[in-house]
Amino acid sequence: IFITFEGPDGAGKTTQLQKLAQEITALGYDVVVTREPGGTSISDRIRSIILSPENKEMTDQAEVLLYAASRAQHVHELILPAIEAGKVVLCDRFIDASVAYQAYGLGVDREMVTSINRYASSGLQAERTYLLDVPVEVSQHRLRQRAAGTQTELQLDRIEQKGFEYHSRVRDGFHQIAAEEPQRVKVIDANRTEAEIAEDILIDCKRLLEV
Ligand code: C5P
Ligand code: MG
Repeated sequence: IFITFEGPDGAGKTTQLQKLAQEITALGYDVVVTREPGGTSISDRIRSIILSPENKEMTDQAEVLLYAASRAQHVHELILPAIEAGKVVLCDRFIDASVAYQAYGLGVDREMVTSINRYASSGLQAERTYLLDVPVEVSQHRLRQRAAGTQTELQLDRIEQKGFEYHSRVRDGFHQIAAEEPQRVKVIDANRTEAEIAEDILIDCKRLLEV
């Protein structure tokens, strides 16, 4: 079973993914937690190229293809074997992120992004996607707090540095996807407490797993 989490940086995807992993592990499932871009050593190295604030001159074409390359390795090396072994795979971001960020955010042709990623992932699709939705003001605020709070003065990555307009288009993109595929994509109001969000996700996930 393949479940993905989507939404902007600062929506709480990582926290909720960990919580869900704990809950369904306790139910006896073998759970694998992973993330994009990344998840394998090759994918992680591609991630660092994509996100380095130094790579300001990266073209849209290169960005689309690097995300797809990172995903191709991740899908074939890690995700598909885990699914075939009967595990529940929880993934932080997947193809919807490319549609939202590169198609809606950057303005790359959506069909192009979709077909490149269909090739990269050999057509793999999530059975369930939790879209953690928060207003752009909220996600931008959380992100800046997180960056300010780190001792290493962690900088925002190249995508996070983009402005409000860009992130508004990304959010619209996620909403568009959710409207097109309401069975798969569940929109979760992430502007609530962690416990409330986790409860909604767990209820739906139990239904999906039929437990
Ligand atoms: O979720 P995480 O913070 O690890 O994502 C890393 C960065 O990659 C974020 O800034 C996110 O917005 C960006 N991203 C993207 N396109 C994707 C996946 C992630 O721009 N397809
Ligand atoms: Mg981030």
